[in-house]
Amino acid sequence: LEVIASVEPRIAEATRKELADQRSSLKLIASENYASPAVLLTMGTWFSDKYAEGTVGHRFYAGCQNVDTVETIAAEHARELFGAEYAYVQPHSGIDANLVAFWSILAHRVESPALEKLGARGVNELTDVDWETLRHELGNQRLLGMSLDAGGHLTHGFRPNISGKMFHQQQYGTDPVTGLLDYDVVAAKAREFKPLILVAGYSAYPRRVDFAKMREIADEVGATLMVDMAHFAGLVAGKVFTGDEDPVPHAHVVTSTTHKSLRGPRGGIVLATEEYAPSVDRGCPMVLGGPLSHVMAAKAVAFAEARQDSFKTYAQQVADNAKSLAEGFMKRGAKLVTDGTDNHIVLVDVSGFGLTGRQAESALLDAGIVTNRNSVPADPNGAWYTSGVRLGTPALTTRGFGHDEFDNVAELIVHVLQNAEAGTTKAGGPSKASYLLPDGLADKVKAASAEM
Ligand code: PLP
Repeated sequence: LEVIASVEPRIAEATRKELADQRSSLKLIASENYASPAVLLTMGTWFSDKYAEGTVGHRFYAGCQNVDTVETIAAEHARELFGAEYAYVQPHSGIDANLVAFWSILAHRVESPALEKLGARGVNELTDVDWETLRHELGNQRLLGMSLDAGGHLTHGFRPNISGKMFHQQQYGTDPVTGLLDYDVVAAKAREFKPLILVAGYSAYPRRVDFAKMREIADEVGATLMVDMAHFAGLVAGKVFTGDEDPVPHAHVVTSTTHKSLRGPRGGIVLATEEYAPSVDRGCPMVLGGPLSHVMAAKAVAFAEARQDSFKTYAQQVADNAKSLAEGFMKRGAKLVTDGTDNHIVLVDVSGFGLTGRQAESALLDAGIVTNRNSVPADPNGAWYTSGVRLGTPALTTRGFGHDEFDNVAELIVHVLQNAEAGTTKAGGPSKASYLLPDGLADKVKAASAEM
């Protein structure tokens, strides 16, 4: 930090404060974790300075021999870790990984004379009319994914997102009463809509998915099954999700982030069957530019960590802790979406406390508990205020929390929510954002969590 401070002291100070904040609060954001010192240090090296567009052995820049070594090792570890036929480790983030997957599937699946011409003759040979045809052929395809309010991700066909614009999209949800995925409903939608791509995976669904069933649905309608395991990749790597709950043997293409339950650097990966590998391998130049070589190196270190037995223990503890947290809430009368969890996510419906998700999130933050508000099925408060709070166990499990600590966490959260009151607007009407906490409560909760 001294070196940074000598150039821009405000950044050094913000970095120091971030460490203090992350250490002194309860980090329950389901998509966050604490990467190891080895992963963090690997990101801070001179690989950051190297350009390496292309693929291993076929770069558009000279001097990429060491990046080739890094990318080869990272891909090898990813294949071994997940039992995948092919791994592409260049995407900078989860969204990049999904874009690479979409374009690879389009390139592989869409029968396009213009695309064939592109493959055969190269970019410079295509006329303006060819490009127009190509735009039409690629832009006319269908995608079916899980809706955002049911727990899907923006990139799974949400209208305002690029995925909802580049495809004709439809979405499947969860049962409004049970909050669970209904595979018959997904199958009926798929039969009617006939998507080219069926996307499975989620950001806020507290249950496991049967990927064998999803593959059956995809096969029946001739769709490519793409699974976005960004959230639960750590549980797949740690062999908590096996058989039908492991997406890799069932999906044609699997995407992931590397920084959530997988506990690596911020980044993305795409896994694929041999059939899809050649088109995924063209992620650059189709979607990406130069890979982040220092992050690919850190991915290799994180994958090596995840291949150790200790990571299996960690992943199992993440899932066990989520159960302890869920039970801690339910025995204290809080309502959970799907009445529990079997992954790393717990979704609390806070309407029973007389609060919106926004009020609950802010009140908890005051008390040093970092969460994010989230819609519940058929949410009356919409996507901005919401009626839920999403919690995840990966980060605090890395800090060594077990059953008793997570029961305490549930107790502290219920205590804050029971004592928080919905506030009013300046005009005195009901507010969905403001809230009141009794004096001293936030400090008491902070002191209690510092003891854990
Ligand atoms: N896919 C899913 C399921 C996610 O939950 C997220 C992030 O929250 C992403 C993709 C996007 O990842 P990133 O923020 O790295 O682009």
